[in-house]
Amino acid sequence: MRYPQTFIDDLKRQADIVRVIQDYVQLKKKGANWMACCPFHKEKTPSFSVSPTKEIFYCFGCHKGGSVFNFVMEMERVAFPEAIKIVAEKSGMPLPKLIDDSRYEARKAESDQVIELNKWALEWWEQQLESSAEGKIARDYLKQREIADETRQTFRLAYAPDSWDALSIYLRQKGATQEQIDKSGLVVKKEEGGSYDRFRGRLIFPVMDIQGRPIAFGGRTLKDEGAKYINSPETAAYVKGRNLFGLNLTRDEIRRQSFAILVEGFLDLVVPYQFGIRNVVASLGTALTAEQVKLLARFARKVVVNYDGDPAGVQAAKKAIEILLAEDIEIKVLVLPKTDPDDFIRKSGASEYTDVRIAESPDSDEYYRAVRRKAALVRSGSLDISSPAEFIGEHGVSEYSRRRHSTAQSHIQFVIDQAVQNRNLNRPAEKADAVEEVLPYIRAVRSRIQKREYFDIAMDSLRISDAALRRELWHSLRLGPDSTRTEQKIVRGTQVKPTVAEEQLLELLLADGQLRHKLLPRLEAEDYDDLPTAGIFRALVESERAGSAVDFDFLSRSIEGDPIADFLPALLMSAPDDSEADHPETRESTAQKCIDALRLMRVDRRIGDLMAEMAAAERNGATDLLDKLSTERLELARRRSTLLPQAQAVQTGQ
Ligand SMILES: [Zn+2]
Repeated sequence: MRYPQTFIDDLKRQADIVRVIQDYVQLKKKGANWMACCPFHKEKTPSFSVSPTKEIFYCFGCHKGGSVFNFVMEMERVAFPEAIKIVAEKSGMPLPKLIDDSRYEARKAESDQVIELNKWALEWWEQQLESSAEGKIARDYLKQREIADETRQTFRLAYAPDSWDALSIYLRQKGATQEQIDKSGLVVKKEEGGSYDRFRGRLIFPVMDIQGRPIAFGGRTLKDEGAKYINSPETAAYVKGRNLFGLNLTRDEIRRQSFAILVEGFLDLVVPYQFGIRNVVASLGTALTAEQVKLLARFARKVVVNYDGDPAGVQAAKKAIEILLAEDIEIKVLVLPKTDPDDFIRKSGASEYTDVRIAESPDSDEYYRAVRRKAALVRSGSLDISSPAEFIGEHGVSEYSRRRHSTAQSHIQFVIDQAVQNRNLNRPAEKADAVEEVLPYIRAVRSRIQKREYFDIAMDSLRISDAALRRELWHSLRLGPDSTRTEQKIVRGTQVKPTVAEEQLLELLLADGQLRHKLLPRLEAEDYDDLPTAGIFRALVESERAGSAVDFDFLSRSIEGDPIADFLPALLMSAPDDSEADHPETRESTAQKCIDALRLMRVDRRIGDLMAEMAAAERNGATDLLDKLSTERLELARRRSTLLPQAQAVQTGQ
């Protein structure tokens, strides 16, 4: 049951934010905006402001801000659909019928139809695996992966023969119409008409819903050609990100053990399951979603994340951690080396191993060297990280269980390791980046005691020893998600140059379409890539390219998930309204000065790095390199002097 999207879009355009908010707080007109004492925090002088032209509210005190819907959701403590209803009523827009039950019924009938065809297909594919001559390739593969018959039957693994139409023909014989087959996702439609079987020559992993009905399939190639895995498209029965592979079989064990092991791939679940580890679920290739976590949370509140240790797997794990924390799940992370310590010592020597092993005391210099060295080894390919299925295949399940008990890290240690491994904590800017990378994962922890514990671990590990700074950071964390800006100020303020220029430039660009038109083509990606607000710059460039409107709705969608998103209402609110605008030429020259200032900062940063590199080159007697670096240094100095006069004006706030 939901409102039609067209209605929501209309409402977004027509709702009057002032009129809606006025029902809750006494707004007074001040310039182009309306002001009031903030309803979200205690105050005596108004710092809560509403801009009718920008269609946002923002509190300069507690930094809450957003659209009229955000306001109502916050104020009434309701979810989005309810906020829609309230805003529509207050705006005098008649509510349309919810997308009605008859359509829901129709969709359910279609879903049941898809599942029916899936059942037919699966039964047929199972026969192909068990007894067809062609199915030998799949039987051999399973034998080679040491997957027992019983396991195969439990998961209903199957084989889709290498044919363009064998399944389609079978389904038609069973009585399916072409329309039903087309809607099932089991075939791919051709542009010129007609269709062909989607899964050909593949081992089939059926994805079951919680009742054990096949709603979709994954197919693994057995001939090392084409994509390694292909999956069913979305159908009436299957929406990506709503199901967890294996949960229909593992949920009781998950509930019994009160924790779940979260893996990525089909085999990463099937193999542990076969060896008796049965509290596992797989997120199925796509990034873990909040819906999947909510589903899982019905069975356990603790999760061990066991993804691949390659860069893609680490990214996926970090994303998963964020989603899990938001649902208040307790998390550990397990990374499995492909090469066993024994093997590794034999191949690379014991001292290397000491470096690779993560030291027990994470505040020692040895720890940083170890983490960085390990990262370098993984990148260079001399230390592989394996998936759970591979690991169990090579080292056995008891070793896997032992690792899970002994080496699974708390999520915070994993996140810290990731933040540290490619950075030099002796450089303030890099240290600040590391802190910024870690803090969101602490903020997301709901329990205050745990939050404090993780915070202390992080501060020690990142070598933040200054008591006042620690206090401020802790305070910023406790204020909740609205405090990103404060936090950035604290972290950046102690470490990097203030970016008055950046803020001012964005404010100007946000306010003025003509100016965007003129200036954005002049900006280079590297002008803003290192800035915390890079996401907003990218969104502006994209809007210019695509010709889309620059408003809160568009921008917040473009930078969703970026920490800078919290900063957006403040920025939009500070952007000058047209009515209070300077002369266009004044704006343009101010903006150009800001760009020069940003470029100057970048040059300064590079010069700082160069000096360190030159000192190192000198120590090592690398004269060629030293020459090269000196030349670059001279060039930068020249560039610096041309940028300096304009940029200074901005930095001093003129
Ligand atoms: Zn406030």
